[in-house]
Amino acid sequence: MTQDNTTRADPEKERVFTVEIGKLRILSNEMRKEQHERIINWVDESPFRDGSSGKSLTFVLPTRGCKYAMAKHGGCSMCTLPMDNPLNPTTESLYQLPERTWEIFEKKGGVAEFRGVKFYTSGSYLDPWELPVDLRRAILAKFVDNVDEITIETRCEFVIKKHIEDILEVVPAEKLIVAIGQETTDDEINKRSVNKGHKRKQFERAVKLLHQYNVQVKGYILLKSIFMSEVSSLDDVLRSAKHMNDIGVQNISINPCYIGKKTLMEQMFYRGTYRPPWLWTVYYAAKAAKQLVGDRARVICDPVAAGSERGPRNCGSCDKALKATLKEFSSTQDLSLLDIELCECHQIYTSVLSTEHLANGMGTTSVYH
Ligand code: SF4
Ligand SMILES: [Zn+2]
Repeated sequence: MTQDNTTRADPEKERVFTVEIGKLRILSNEMRKEQHERIINWVDESPFRDGSSGKSLTFVLPTRGCKYAMAKHGGCSMCTLPMDNPLNPTTESLYQLPERTWEIFEKKGGVAEFRGVKFYTSGSYLDPWELPVDLRRAILAKFVDNVDEITIETRCEFVIKKHIEDILEVVPAEKLIVAIGQETTDDEINKRSVNKGHKRKQFERAVKLLHQYNVQVKGYILLKSIFMSEVSSLDDVLRSAKHMNDIGVQNISINPCYIGKKTLMEQMFYRGTYRPPWLWTVYYAAKAAKQLVGDRARVICDPVAAGSERGPRNCGSCDKALKATLKEFSSTQDLSLLDIELCECHQIYTSVLSTEHLANGMGTTSVYH
């Protein structure tokens, strides 16, 4: 009797994707500095839970970055975040972070200026491998009485009782938001395109646990990862937003891809098999997601590198205005801001939507490429 193997996955082929990501991660790690003490920071206008908007200061803490990215499988396929972080920060430099972040906060306007702070690490704030437990508490303790909201980012495997209870000893639940980069709630897309390593169930577990402690969740959704077309990514964003809304995620952040150095996305971009998303796709994703979730969730969409060659873009003449509109919508949640006049490139965009899969299904087009 012969066995039919046609439906079985070839283990060698299954590994090609992550082997390539792993090789590129080695290259990107070689470009990292052994040590540096730079704290990247920026100011943005954010929506707050009472419906008003206000300024937030975001810090990227120079920890050693995401452990998941350092694994043999190379981490998420689009991610170059740890490239900004030192490979081996000294203990001394880490323990200066409470003072140094506070100094930046004060210098940029302090309590009079900011209603919120966000702490990113290019990894997970709740991973003790990056930030020792006493240090992560000390950083939060500096700010807790001076802002309305504190956001921290983490992968969902670190969302466990021990870590949540530890953070809640310093920050009351009503001030805390835990952001999780789930990217998509479609496990197949996550496995074949993003390599996130979180399944939807794991994300749901983390959300449920945070909600048990009355902590708000922010879910990140990635728009147009590799091998995705404009249409399929729009569809995926909306399905993911719906899933997140169904389980009560209060903040949904839509993050269009931009091309990071030493990524598979960059290699595909150079070969002409990947184009960053059109800003029109981003626009429709934000608009439809907000229409879908209504007042039950804040929808945030402030695309990084919008209008640049390596970022989400349209024709070049409407990009700046559309980015500004999305930014304003994100801080106010006012859907009427998204009633805009369409640029003439919109016609080309609509034809791309119906034809790009005829090329290779990877979002390529020669117009405005
Ligand atoms: S979990 Fe976050 S930081 Fe880590 S590789 Fe993925 S996107 Fe990058
Ligand atoms: Zn245009």
